[in-house]
Amino acid sequence: MRESLEGPLYFGYALLENRAVSIPSLSKPVLYFLRMELKFCRFIHRQIPVMVMLSLFPGLGYLFLGWMAGVFRPALIWYAGNILASLYGLWLYRNFDLPQMGEREQNRWCFRVSVFIHVFFALWAAIFIVYVRENASNLHYIAIFTQIGATTVAASFLYPMPRLFRPIIPSMMFLLVIYFLSIGEWFAYVLAIFATILGGVLFHAATSSYKLLKTAYRQAAHDQLTGLNNRQYFMERLQQMMMDLKEVQGCSFLLLVDLDHFKTVNDSLGHGVGDSLLQEVARRMRETIPEKDGLARLGGDEFIVIGQEFHTAGACELQALELAKALLSRLKETYLVSGHRIYISASIGVRVFSHEEQDSSSLIRETDIAMYEAKGAGRDAVVLFNEEVSHRVELHLQIERLLHFALENNEISLCYQPMVDENRHIIGAECLVRWNSSRLGKVSPERFIPIAEQTGLIIRLGEFILVTAFATLREWQRRGMNLQQFSVNVSVRQLLHHDFVDLVKALTQRYLSPELTEKLVFEITETVIAADMRSVVSTMNELRELGIRFSMDDFGTGYSSLSYLKQLPVSELKIDRGFVCNLCKDEENQALISAILQIAGTLGLRVVAEGIEKEEDFLYLQNLGCRYFQGYHFSLPLDAAGFQRLLN
Ligand code: C2E
Ligand code: MG
Ligand code: MG
Repeated sequence: MRESLEGPLYFGYALLENRAVSIPSLSKPVLYFLRMELKFCRFIHRQIPVMVMLSLFPGLGYLFLGWMAGVFRPALIWYAGNILASLYGLWLYRNFDLPQMGEREQNRWCFRVSVFIHVFFALWAAIFIVYVRENASNLHYIAIFTQIGATTVAASFLYPMPRLFRPIIPSMMFLLVIYFLSIGEWFAYVLAIFATILGGVLFHAATSSYKLLKTAYRQAAHDQLTGLNNRQYFMERLQQMMMDLKEVQGCSFLLLVDLDHFKTVNDSLGHGVGDSLLQEVARRMRETIPEKDGLARLGGDEFIVIGQEFHTAGACELQALELAKALLSRLKETYLVSGHRIYISASIGVRVFSHEEQDSSSLIRETDIAMYEAKGAGRDAVVLFNEEVSHRVELHLQIERLLHFALENNEISLCYQPMVDENRHIIGAECLVRWNSSRLGKVSPERFIPIAEQTGLIIRLGEFILVTAFATLREWQRRGMNLQQFSVNVSVRQLLHHDFVDLVKALTQRYLSPELTEKLVFEITETVIAADMRSVVSTMNELRELGIRFSMDDFGTGYSSLSYLKQLPVSELKIDRGFVCNLCKDEENQALISAILQIAGTLGLRVVAEGIEKEEDFLYLQNLGCRYFQGYHFSLPLDAAGFQRLLN
């Protein structure tokens, strides 16, 4: 079955034909209790040596008493049985390594331990039956006492496993009651009643302890707010899954789900609404994911899903992506919380992993990376972690590291791309930053500028760009190179930095005359719309007082809403090169560009068409009435000397 998975939501994966075929496993509640029992196996494990000692040492005393009372042969057989059972118990004790055991292996171990325990109590019941008949040597007193003792041991050692204590306590007491009844005297009837009561009390004590333990376990494994499993439980489950995969040579997946802009809900509507929203998100997720998959809340607005076991990576990947897609659309449906209608989307990282994987924390980290890639791709998206993502992230980290030293190592420079008018005369230049890294070679600003913005390095880098640009403009003026405009790209983070206006004031005073300052154009992108518009506008106005103009760069790629065009004091639009390339053959872009030109005309903005690569596109735009151009067709970005030569 091929379902449509294409579209903007999916990155870097191949669609496979095969349906998800999971290895049959147990249903969820059963799994949960099994896992809890497995945990309690640890407790039982610690009791094994004590039980072995109880069989061997008091058993030796029993052997001696049997010899004295003339029942040596059955006592000897019984003791031999004890030795065998103890050896088996010790073998089980040694072969227990919970962290290294897969689920199947643990289940096998638990089964063997229950066999050992049943044999252990059966042996004590057997010796009771033999000795209780020896009234003449008073062995029956000892037998009665031991039977009560053995039942107490059952109640206190086996309480974490009802599967064991539920049959053992009543059967041990039952033997005692039968014996008392068989005496046929009034005091023995009373003792039979007392034995029944004692059995009930022991049973009740074990059951209560078990319930307490279960509650404590539940609390330790669950998230209070949503009732989902918590991080600690999830980590255990993941480790368990990794062991299981080793046993079956299979694979599984992780989905990390993070809500988009959840903080805004918390900040604007309060934490109470935020909490209710998270509860509803948890409920929807629980409904959407298959029963056998695991779901946990890692904290905040982060949830994680662990899939079942699959035989093939293809089937696993397909199922993971299908599930992620289903979650995306379910979580996007409108929420009604305390009278508020809330729309929220999610970003999901997917990591498919196999039995070869060793380290659970790097699995989670990689799922996290994929999730952040989904955020980076505009949110409301699914990204599958693969080699390509891993490379990209590695490169990202490397750029981040090396960029710190780029300025000190003189690796950053500026180049200048001419802007021309309709007669192909150079009327201006755009400054474009270049990084020639000694380690990575030439790195495109499209790669490192966003990283510089994220890390805050753009502030220092931006200052360097302004200083270099202003110094060049002054130098060109001195050499008589007359330009109408000189454009510098400015990023939002730079623009909104508290120091920016003062910095620009100081630099213009140092380098530029007022006439030169009026040639400056700062190119901003539509990302300013996402920022605090009031401060953007007020900063722009302060800079406009110095004579600096603004241009809206890459127009048409972002929000492109008319209302903000009216709000922002820009005097120029730069049509993104995406609309310009192959313009002659693309009717949609033709219509868009003529609309942009009309709007710009109405608003009194000048328009620069970027990325002109062909004469025919230039002529077409010229015909439409566009007057300013930039692109490889006229010139590549040049260094300062190259630009001077071209101009001369
Ligand atoms: P942008 O401001 O839109 O700059 C135009 C980009 O288009 C430049 O890429 C330029 O080399 C390229 N270009 C120009 N003509 C053509 C053409 O005909 N065809 C094609 N395919 N491309 C053309 P570049 O230099 O790689 O810069 C990319 C982006 O990086 C810039 O886009 C700008 O957003 C950012 N950037 C560059 N320098 C700076 C800077 O100094 N500060 C900041 N904040 N951002 C910068
Ligand atoms: Mg630009
Ligand atoms: Mg541009």
